[in-house]
Amino acid sequence: MSVKPPIWWYQSMDEYYARKKIKEDPEINNIFEDKPQELEEFTLWYIAYSSAYGSVGFTTAIYEWLTNGWDSIPKDRMRMIEYDPEGWKALSKAVFERDNYTCTYCGEIGGQLEVDHKRPWSRGGTDDMDNLTTACLRCNRQKHDKTVDEFMEWKKNKISGDE
Ligand SMILES: [Zn+2]
Repeated sequence: MSVKPPIWWYQSMDEYYARKKIKEDPEINNIFEDKPQELEEFTLWYIAYSSAYGSVGFTTAIYEWLTNGWDSIPKDRMRMIEYDPEGWKALSKAVFERDNYTCTYCGEIGGQLEVDHKRPWSRGGTDDMDNLTTACLRCNRQKHDKTVDEFMEWKKNKISGDE
């Protein structure tokens, strides 16, 4: 466990899913029973791991952790960890201003906005302005690691499923 992401990075959207997944997994809760600090370390590692690998089986992740720990994350996929938080803040502001503080996906204006990678970061999307867009918290959680096309398709199915 030599390299650690900065604190701000843990507050990204992936944290929400990682913590939820971990909380609901009986195997994990078994392994880390009465070891809250190790559980937290695993959680932080899992966030980085799932960013590096995209959606992988949770069991695979546990196995990787038990064998190799932090070092099993490929270094070339760790760019987010090396990211400059001040730079990201400035970039976010530029994206929000360009998009008039409006969610690209539902048209909501203002509120809690986030920067979405149209092509997900975990799937090779870049931090270029062209790949960044404004999303409200709800849309961004729903989109997660889908591409824009996949998300639109998902939304369409969800709406027709609700009827
Ligand atoms: Zn939205």
